[in-house]
Amino acid sequence: MTSTNDPADRADVVVVGAGLIGLGIAWRAAARGLDVIVVDPAPGAGASGAAAGMLAPVSELHYGEDALLALNLISAGRYGDWSKELTEATGTDIGYRECGTVVTAWDGADLTALRDLQALHERLGLHSRMLGRRELRELEPGLAAGLPGGLLAAEDHQVDPQALHAALTSAAGAAGVRLRRRRARRVQLSDVSGDRVTGVELDSGEVLAAGQVVLAGGARIRELDGLPPSVAALAGMVRPVKGQTLHLRADRPGLLTRVVRGSVRGVPVYLVPRDDGRVVVGASSEEAGFDTRPRAGAVYELLRDAQALVPEIGELMLERVATGLRPGSPDNAPVIGPAGPEGLVVAGGHFRNGVLLAPVTAEGVAGLLTEGELPAHLIPFSPQRFTSTKGAAG
Ligand SMILES: Cc1cc2nc3c(=O)[nH]c(=O)nc-3n(C[C@H](O)[C@H](O)[C@H](O)COP(=O)(O)OP(=O)(O)OC[C@H]3O[C@@H](n4cnc5c(N)ncnc54)[C@H](O)[C@@H]3O)c2cc1C
Repeated sequence: MTSTNDPADRADVVVVGAGLIGLGIAWRAAARGLDVIVVDPAPGAGASGAAAGMLAPVSELHYGEDALLALNLISAGRYGDWSKELTEATGTDIGYRECGTVVTAWDGADLTALRDLQALHERLGLHSRMLGRRELRELEPGLAAGLPGGLLAAEDHQVDPQALHAALTSAAGAAGVRLRRRRARRVQLSDVSGDRVTGVELDSGEVLAAGQVVLAGGARIRELDGLPPSVAALAGMVRPVKGQTLHLRADRPGLLTRVVRGSVRGVPVYLVPRDDGRVVVGASSEEAGFDTRPRAGAVYELLRDAQALVPEIGELMLERVATGLRPGSPDNAPVIGPAGPEGLVVAGGHFRNGVLLAPVTAEGVAGLLTEGELPAHLIPFSPQRFTSTKGAAG
């Protein structure tokens, strides 16, 4: 292990992980005047590199997840400003589009489920409305004939997560964040009592000294050594949920104008059309440990179901199959806040909503790092919910 007084190896904060969550935090923390190093051997190669970029608090609502809904809505509401700020800072268009989302029904049972969902939306004050067979096809002529109807969630939008990652990398760099392409091996604690963080040891043996360390390693935070038992137990609760997306391209845009989600014979599938003719089809959901190899069966099933909803899909070019591990927490809600020793912060467990939740996580954790407090809307998602008797946030 090499310890050094080199200023290049010192910072106020070390962020472990350069996915959307880690980079977002680093950018916002640097904007508040902190000196930040981010470490990651493969920035953008995690879940953030496979994500489709649906910003879908309404259409992805699950029963009993009211606290998460509130957080999702706050973050969705910040995307317009984030997009503007990132584009101004970097010149990169992050593909934020206020396009709305259509949810299609496959059969009568799906229609009933959508009516129930719409009633729930109404009770919660969310905006959605049912679509009849004809209106559905008028809105999206690329949809298969014969679908019995659907639901319009006009306020569920999209962003391009890979463009967002590129923009965050460049905005963070411009704000002074240093990126080290290394794996963090161990979190270092003070020798005397172990009650405070002192830095991070890299796989090269170098040590980065910092008074605050943010764990944003996605599905892999459990692999870090040196965590005290309570934090190791927390990290161990974050499980990898494998997901595949297919990245297709049409010769010209316009096959779809909104995000389309649906289920085909009970299996969920979605299509996210970009402005330039690309269409992302997703996503599989598999508990397969840390195996990130693309599975042929998942590719087949996604294409089969996407084509059942949008027949022309088979004519598009297949550019990329992407696989990522969603970081799933026990209650499917993120885990954000101080954990264990002073200066250690967890920002993980974003599961299916990490793209959506990037802005609210970044601002909230940057506030914690500079002012020592989380905003009220993040308190229900603090790690303490798994160690106190109050129960889960979702
Ligand atoms: C197929 C798929 C589709 C999705 N679609 C959507 C969507 O439409 N909308 C949405 O909101 N969310 C979506 N998600 C979820 C979203 O992608 C994740 O919640 C989010 O990307 C998590 O971001 P993260 O930065 O925490 O993790 P990641 O993106 O996985 O980044 C973690 C980073 O940490 C690094 N790392 C790990 N361990 C170490 C270490 N020891 N040292 C240094 N670096 C380390 C990794 O290399 C990686 O780059 C999807 C996910 C998948 C897989």
